[in-house]
Amino acid sequence: MNNKSVQQRLECHFYNYFNASDSTFFSAVSPQPVDSPFWVSTNIDLAEMLGISAKELNSDTCLQLLSGGLNHDDIDSFSVVYSGHQFGVWAGQLGDGRAITLGEIAVGNNNELWDLQLKGAGTTPYSRFGDGRAVLRSSIREYLCSEVMHGLGIGTTRALSLSTGKTTAVREQIEPVAVLCRVARSHVRFGNFEHFHYDNNPKAVKELADYLIERHFSDWANDPKRYYLLLQNCVLKTAKTIAQWQSVGFCHGVMNTDNMSILGDTIDYGPFGFLDTYNPDYICNHSDHQGRYSFRNQPSIGLWNLNALATCFSSLLETSEITECLKHYETEFLRNYRQIMASKIGLLDYQPEDELLINRLLNMMATDQVDYTLLFRKLCDFSKNNQTVRDYFRDRDEFDSWSSDYLQRLESQETNDKQRRESMMKINPLYVLRNYMAQTAIEAAEAGDYSEVELLLSLLSNPYTPHPDGEKYEGLPPDWASTISISCSS
Ligand code: AMP
Ligand code: MG
Repeated sequence: MNNKSVQQRLECHFYNYFNASDSTFFSAVSPQPVDSPFWVSTNIDLAEMLGISAKELNSDTCLQLLSGGLNHDDIDSFSVVYSGHQFGVWAGQLGDGRAITLGEIAVGNNNELWDLQLKGAGTTPYSRFGDGRAVLRSSIREYLCSEVMHGLGIGTTRALSLSTGKTTAVREQIEPVAVLCRVARSHVRFGNFEHFHYDNNPKAVKELADYLIERHFSDWANDPKRYYLLLQNCVLKTAKTIAQWQSVGFCHGVMNTDNMSILGDTIDYGPFGFLDTYNPDYICNHSDHQGRYSFRNQPSIGLWNLNALATCFSSLLETSEITECLKHYETEFLRNYRQIMASKIGLLDYQPEDELLINRLLNMMATDQVDYTLLFRKLCDFSKNNQTVRDYFRDRDEFDSWSSDYLQRLESQETNDKQRRESMMKINPLYVLRNYMAQTAIEAAEAGDYSEVELLLSLLSNPYTPHPDGEKYEGLPPDWASTISISCSS
């Protein structure tokens, strides 16, 4: 643990780097406190990773800092400007309308920098018509989803703490607000590049790229191909992250270019959803009338977004280099997706014939509306003598034909049922953040009981391992789950 307080450890790397051009990249902003703040939950595991003790995190000083109680006289807090394509249409300037970065803290022997950012701590120069606040309900969803994604091994922003107070905000009704402390290696989005590119400011595009290389890829600092490497890294990481989303049934819901991280991490959790029954056409965002961001469209939207980003690199790279970079997306996505899906069904490696085996299973699941998470978890127990998973399918003949081919494929491997089961249990989660689970925690929290948030945080942080109090979340979702409608307001 570090002896200095979190506030003392806050560095101003981004702030100092861009201070000369100040309003080009960001505006200095003071968070606005919530009335009578208190914790909803604090994330001790993440604090530990950051070198913050549980005692310090839970202290009043930290509560003040992380609920927006310190102003710009005490910390060099700021909000950044970005633009973006929303639902495929150029939306112009957006920016951190309700996010304020407090600074970075250096972690570990390599002094790796992690941004600490408050989401929902009041208005900024980029708030446009918004109030700069985030309601408790959507903040609980982001808090828990960040941590389950991390637990699933998927690149993501993290969540250090969630506080609330007496302050309210008007949405469909009057609701309590919350302040989330989001932690990330970077909060830079595709939209940051788009902002400067479409503003005809190639100098700023280059400065931003140089900053990212200095902060994250210092080995490339003198490499003549450094901008190519930066774009390529984003292409490859985005492909991998989206392959992982598909493998756990995660639907982001708002894959606008301003919600895409330059490091390829998952960022900006809004009306996301994990699949209950397997439905490739699942649309989790009720405002997405065309299904642009449906589950099955995510991989191609990833490429669409990367094209939008790559256009912004036209002042740094030759067209042929940009084309070359983008070419890697599909190969990288498929390589990751196939390998993960092969592992999910217990195969040691992916063979071209396995595509048919995997797709036949997914097709049966779609036709018979089988629960995605549960099926893969139950499949861990599959063997010649244990085929209880058959009960999940209505078309038994179809299943028997598939399972006989599956068994044959398993028998071609030099591994026994026990070993296969063990490795499958490490890739097929027992828990994901199903909408009804979040809803249960939200309803309790809105009534002043935060224990369900705490339970879900603990259970979802280790989604592959049975939790002592987790049994109620290990089966099919209740019937009322299908009636939940996630409000797009947040
Ligand atoms: P999102 O769809 O949540 O990614 O937000 C899109 C844009 O709207 C971003 O620029 C946000 O900062 C901004 N925004 C969303 N909600 C608010 C709010 N309550 N107050 C100010 N800006 C907001
Ligand atoms: Mg956003």
